Amino acid sequence: AAGCAAVTCAIAAALVARRASARARWRRAVALLREFEDGLRHAARAPCDRNEEGIYYAIDLGGTNFRVLRVEVGAGSVVISRKVEHEPIPEELTKGTLEELFNFIALALKNFMEREDGKDERRALGFTFSFPVRQTSVSSGSLIRWTKGFAIEDAAGKDIAQCLNEALARSGLNVRVTALVNDTVGTLALGHYHDEDTVAAVIIGAGTNACYIERTDAIIKCQGLLTNSGGMVVNMEWGNFWSSHLPRTLYDISLDDETQNRNDQGFEKMISGIYLGEIARLVLHRMALESDVFSDAADSLSVPFTLSTPLLAAIREDDSPDLSEVKRILQEHLRIPGTPLKTRRLVVKVCDIVTRRAARLAAAGIVGILKKLGRDGSGVASTGRTRSQPRRTVVAIEGGLYQGYPVFREYLDEALVEILGEEVAQTVTLRVTEDGSGTGAALLAAVHSSNR
Ligand code: ADP
Repeated sequence: AAGCAAVTCAIAAALVARRASARARWRRAVALLREFEDGLRHAARAPCDRNEEGIYYAIDLGGTNFRVLRVEVGAGSVVISRKVEHEPIPEELTKGTLEELFNFIALALKNFMEREDGKDERRALGFTFSFPVRQTSVSSGSLIRWTKGFAIEDAAGKDIAQCLNEALARSGLNVRVTALVNDTVGTLALGHYHDEDTVAAVIIGAGTNACYIERTDAIIKCQGLLTNSGGMVVNMEWGNFWSSHLPRTLYDISLDDETQNRNDQGFEKMISGIYLGEIARLVLHRMALESDVFSDAADSLSVPFTLSTPLLAAIREDDSPDLSEVKRILQEHLRIPGTPLKTRRLVVKVCDIVTRRAARLAAAGIVGILKKLGRDGSGVASTGRTRSQPRRTVVAIEGGLYQGYPVFREYLDEALVEILGEEVAQTVTLRVTEDGSGTGAALLAAVHSSNR
């Protein structure tokens, strides 16, 4: 037991985002903020201005799944109906050619449209493409680099909307991309459509990213379109945020070495769904190598990505007295049979620490945005000097990890209260938008449908 405790303490000390002093937390928040300000270059587009009736389609390509959507917009730009179909992306397509990937997507859209509408009408398409893009217009932009395990060669620099348009034409579809957005922007558009106090959107799924509405006078290099109110949506690409204040452990370094995009997306690799299970596996593997807690199971724990994040969540959320679910997962997924209860408790603890650190980092990112907007209760906006009372603030939030893992949500909320204080935290609402990234893209396609 003493050995177990020592290993846990060592890992906890190395891994957990410690309860930093208020001063240290402040320093981190300021560092995050500086980094955000450096990133104020990539602009997106206006939230929906609600004036197009008709049927619109959207494709949402983000990470592990893609979605096809049909959205019917009625008078006053009310969403009358919405249909969404999810499909996993075959692993081989994430490493093949752009043409193969987009042919697959075009075919899925074609089948979906035939089932839904039957007739071949000209349609506007919203394309949610959640990888870093250099946006050149509302409906065009070139890929900067792949993230989230995608590794299609010769795609960087290509106009993604044009490539999809070509695939749509090859499949005989009378459809054109009229809005190219990333998932944060789609989610913000839908969030704003529902609630005008929505000022930011955060994705915590396979990957993580955020965007927010910035006053145009704070934008250093203005590339995008203005909103009706003179604001601009800034796509932060915060997954690529890095700061020397982030406690990077040897597990983070090992994880980075295993990925296709080494040295990129450091923040994302500490927070999002593709990676959390793997961080925990790396910790467990080291424990197996350096102690006898898993008997001779080091080999079983040596295979990368065998512990997925949904499994990590199931381990953390096992509330049975004998941790029977943990036992099952260790046996069936990691080939470690017959673990004693104290070892299972240790595994739960590791999964808890990895989860808690991720949720706290995501919360720090959200507070960074609130601070940037002068909505963190400190009374001084970072780009202006005016004192202000905290107003009601809504952050649209979406993603399989956030939506599927209640403990993650709990830790994130807890950290927001800890950093902001109870009173200010009460003014902040995190609002889940179901399939918002795709629906928002369809709404933006509607707004820009004259480009069809
Ligand atoms: P994307 O749209 O980028 O494919 P999603 O928003 O669908 O991503 O989220 C998928 C990710 O969410 C997966 O990587 C998975 O690890 C994580 N996830 C899904 N369900 C759960 C769950 N119940 N608990 C923890 N993580 C989950």
